[in-house]
Amino acid sequence: MISAPKVAASTRPSESPASSPDAGAHESLIDSGSQVRVQKPRRAAPADAVRPTRAEVNLANLRHNLRVIEKALLPNAQTQKTAEVWGVLKADAYGHGAPAVARTLERAGISGLCVALLEEGVELRAAGIRIPILVMGGYYGRQLDGLLEMIANDLIPVVYDPGQVEQMARLARLENRPPMRVHWKVDTGMGRLGTSPRELSSMLQAFLQFREVKLEALMTHFACADAADLSATFEQMRLFGELEHRVQALGLKPTIRHAANSAALLRAPHTQLERVRPGVALFGVSPTAVELPLASELRPVMRVRSEIVALRTLEAGARIGYGHTFETSRTSVIATVPMGYADGLSRKLSNRGHALVRGRRAPIVGTVSMDLTMIDVSEIPGAKLGDEAVFLGPQEGVLGKDVISVNEVAEHAETIAWEVLTSISRRVPRFYREP
Ligand SMILES: *Cc1c(COP(=O)(O)O)cnc(C)c1O
Repeated sequence: MISAPKVAASTRPSESPASSPDAGAHESLIDSGSQVRVQKPRRAAPADAVRPTRAEVNLANLRHNLRVIEKALLPNAQTQKTAEVWGVLKADAYGHGAPAVARTLERAGISGLCVALLEEGVELRAAGIRIPILVMGGYYGRQLDGLLEMIANDLIPVVYDPGQVEQMARLARLENRPPMRVHWKVDTGMGRLGTSPRELSSMLQAFLQFREVKLEALMTHFACADAADLSATFEQMRLFGELEHRVQALGLKPTIRHAANSAALLRAPHTQLERVRPGVALFGVSPTAVELPLASELRPVMRVRSEIVALRTLEAGARIGYGHTFETSRTSVIATVPMGYADGLSRKLSNRGHALVRGRRAPIVGTVSMDLTMIDVSEIPGAKLGDEAVFLGPQEGVLGKDVISVNEVAEHAETIAWEVLTSISRRVPRFYREP
């Protein structure tokens, strides 16, 4: 039988950077006495860390970004109300550690949270999170177990298939439960999840037939809200409105609609509706290359830093790293930093990316290896063993101050900010800061 994981005595992110709020939560998930379906590999805990490589998560900046997002919300013309913010914390809160991020946002007054997986929702409940949680992936397993676990953990399911509605109705009847509230996802042009317009009527039939399932909200997701050209987003919005009318016409009355991710809510206020679902903007990353006034107010939440552990002076013509992909053109000071691709520093940054040392940029030289990366500190006077090297985020030092943004790394690594953040691996302990 499934039993709800007990709510853990919540471990609070403390002021001390030596604490690890999420390590406790992971353990409680496993020690809860419930049937364990999900074995989560434990992330390196700060207390175990010998290596100076770590990700610092600035919870004050997280709260600040929530306020910036709230500033972007315009009152609805009819109701005069602004949208509720439901923060998207899938993939361990974009690599920042979901329990600590969720606790911070909950205390900052956020209305609700969204995750991709049932497992992620369970993890947040086990960490003591009480606000509503929407499970967007819509996958609850083949058996009823997953749905029972959704109910036991008070998680809100997203549905898009008539079979899901029927299964939920059957469960409600079987267990003699109050109606189960669900969010219905429709596909307006993403081609991924959601009921396609052609299948709308069979889904409508299911809702009309199975009254044990209460349609609380209608939702969709944008494919191109970050693109310079917003016409695809506007077209999705138009279709969303049309589908909503078809739903209303049959007497179904979802009271909530939501569609906007970070980019849409910041760029196209008419997509805000009753709820918005920002993810990346909460973590201080502009969701689009297009210039946005509010985006410049976002503050980076994650800072990835290590220290110089080896330093050598090499003559001109010296070759560096695997494959000898770099050759010094002059007498050079080369520093070695214990962070590599196994920590989430992309190999694409080889001979391309930078680290900050003493407040100034030092280029990555040679190939990024699994555990180590070399940087050229020839232009960093006074660089020495133990100096901090920052691969992501800001640094202030004796030579100045600078920032390596997530978007900059994404460009060098030929990927997107979302992947950069979620790539920081479990070998890198997260330290929570409350400056
Ligand atoms: C990831 C995701 C979001 C948040 O997207 P951002 O671009 O990070 O703001 C919103 N809705 C859905 C369905 C998602 O999968």
